[in-house]
Amino acid sequence: MNAAVPLRAIQPQTNERIYVTQPHLAPLEEFIPYLQQIWDSKILTNCGPFHQQLEAALCKYLGVRHLALFSNGTLALVTALQALRITGEVITTPYSFVATAHSLVWNGVKPVFVDVDPHTLNLDPAKIEAAITPQTTAIMPVHCYGKPCDVEAIQKIADNYNLKVIYDAAHAFGVQTDEGSVLEHGDLAVLSFHATKVFNTFEGGAIICRDAKTKQRIDHLKNFGFVDEVTVVAPGINGKMSEINAAFGLLQLQHIDEALARRKEIDATYREMLGGIRGIRCLPHGSEKAANYAYFPILVEADYPLSRDGLYQKFRDNEIWARRYFYPLISEFPMYRGLPSANQNNLPVAADAALKVLCLPIYPALSNSDLHRIVSVIEGH
Ligand SMILES: *Cc1c(COP(=O)(O)O)cnc(C)c1O
Repeated sequence: MNAAVPLRAIQPQTNERIYVTQPHLAPLEEFIPYLQQIWDSKILTNCGPFHQQLEAALCKYLGVRHLALFSNGTLALVTALQALRITGEVITTPYSFVATAHSLVWNGVKPVFVDVDPHTLNLDPAKIEAAITPQTTAIMPVHCYGKPCDVEAIQKIADNYNLKVIYDAAHAFGVQTDEGSVLEHGDLAVLSFHATKVFNTFEGGAIICRDAKTKQRIDHLKNFGFVDEVTVVAPGINGKMSEINAAFGLLQLQHIDEALARRKEIDATYREMLGGIRGIRCLPHGSEKAANYAYFPILVEADYPLSRDGLYQKFRDNEIWARRYFYPLISEFPMYRGLPSANQNNLPVAADAALKVLCLPIYPALSNSDLHRIVSVIEGH
């Protein structure tokens, strides 16, 4: 054996595993000064300076008026429903992450599933009215994959029936419509800053609201209902973001634009390379600012040589861990499938999408060679 040849070169090449996402992390050394400040001040939580700074910085970056930070998106959803005193029934989508419906159940509210639009996979406004009953108090749509819902149509229905609208905007960080931030739509919108999301604070979330009074109520609710040392005005929860997460968020925000730019490049490359492959359909974007490239869903149609699960398995065999977001539908989980609205006949579009969808890896550190590796699996060579 020639000693000059590195051992690796003569071994069969083993591919590194590619996950559907990988968190974008600012350089560690840039985080040290923030930690030093926390250690010096000994302010660890309870809406300290970093918490306040991150709320202000996010309002500015996102173009929203009021934002309340939370320790995660699910607690933000639960608290948003509390803030508006939502009861009875809420119309929502089955095509989402399970926390959307769980947040209703934690408020003693009954989810009513309505089907999605085949082009956007967002709640179909044309199907909402038929699901409204005297018990309906609100609509909870999801901007799925960050693509804006038909916010105008949904607001019109809400106005006609005097319903609140709470957007699960967990995917919609930074997404804009022609009128500005999509997060300004509805009575409240909820973000998630979980590690898997476009903007992350390890764990985290936020409620976006329209007025100072609502923001104050939310701030009370996320801190046990305390108004001052001796006054408790509501049975609140502990949903506060810690100083360490808030500090990390401030640092992450300085790197968000470069992360979004790389995601956009990857999205464009996928679209170009997958465009000609029979049986593979990409979901179209709206306008450029209406996209944050958080996910790259494809639909595996009947004229593709493999089933969706066949392709999923082939990816796994090649150490590529794509994900079936969203499968199963929320309405298929045991705690929901007994509901009348969970019946598959009520949700044909969502049921079809759940069987066809596959989210491909997309994250700033994804290399072009890995991108090509992923596409070549789909191409079949
Ligand atoms: C991530 C996510 C949530 C939950 O957010 P966490 O911060 O993980 O609690 C809720 N809804 C949707 C649609 C999500 O993708």
